[in-house]
Amino acid sequence: MTARSATSVLAALVVALGLVAGCGSTEPQARSPLPAPPRTVFSPEPSADGPSSSSPTTLAVPSPSPSEAATPSATPTRTATAPLVVIDPGHSGRSIRSTDRATGLRDVDYPNYPEIYETFDVSTCVAAGLRADGYRVTLTKRRALDSVSLADRARVANEGRAALAISVHDDHSQGPAFQATYSQRGVKHGGAYHAMYRGTGSKRTVFRDADVARASEEAAATIARERTRAQGRPVSVRENTFTGRTPLEPGNLALVQLLAKVPWVYDEAGARSGSSTTRAMSIATEEAYAKGLLLGVEAAVPLATGRVAQPSAGVRQLRSCLVTAAEPGDGRATRPARYRPAA
Ligand SMILES: [Zn+2]
Repeated sequence: MTARSATSVLAALVVALGLVAGCGSTEPQARSPLPAPPRTVFSPEPSADGPSSSSPTTLAVPSPSPSEAATPSATPTRTATAPLVVIDPGHSGRSIRSTDRATGLRDVDYPNYPEIYETFDVSTCVAAGLRADGYRVTLTKRRALDSVSLADRARVANEGRAALAISVHDDHSQGPAFQATYSQRGVKHGGAYHAMYRGTGSKRTVFRDADVARASEEAAATIARERTRAQGRPVSVRENTFTGRTPLEPGNLALVQLLAKVPWVYDEAGARSGSSTTRAMSIATEEAYAKGLLLGVEAAVPLATGRVAQPSAGVRQLRSCLVTAAEPGDGRATRPARYRPAA
């Protein structure tokens, strides 16, 4: 059985069984034993003329330029023309339930612990690695607990005209055998692709940019290949499902990917440790995930000067970066002690 047909069978099984592959699916249970994390509450939507409905999401959105300006480079002529990579660390510090103006789709996100800290650390360290290797990088959040709507995350990549964007998630309801990338093209079912969409009725919105979809598909396969090597586990290209996860809009494509005008690869990594759904990933596990993402992005979007030689400066700094990021009080990450990974 080829990897692709295995993937299709898996995806079909997931759909047939009504299972949900994706972090957050069992997230209310995952948080219950923890004292501090806020609960996910899907409150009624604010009225359309409510003055503050969008304020939590607009404060924290970094524009593409400031973080580039804040990252002086020794080789400005190279970085000025280097591809822009947008890295999107999963989830928001507060529950978000807004409406995307362009599509009318519900834009819903929620805090998810310890994923929100882990994926922020992995994202910042992959960003540091890519910059060290000559790329321009923008993150969609400045701090781990920033709240940024999915539409605003997509906007960061669209306005920056990113060569590639990646969302970084992990899933403590899934064991480490679950490793996936998701593209904007989906996967073939019986020799054909599904429409990639969210929403029902007049709000049903289909991803229609064929060129971006193909580039996303290629990047998702490349990142899956590099993650497989780095993580030592098969990483498959899959199709997501949000159907039956009210208040999420039904469909098969992450909203941030649907609203993107650039190739976007959504990454998931099963992170359950034993029977615990709250124990933090180990630094070694984070490092392998980060290395796979970094090498995957560099393979998917080579520099004009060619592929970065390995092991690169970016890869070599990952471990020390992650250890530092996991320590609270350094001004960059504020991971509570109970979420710090074991060394
Ligand atoms: Zn997630």
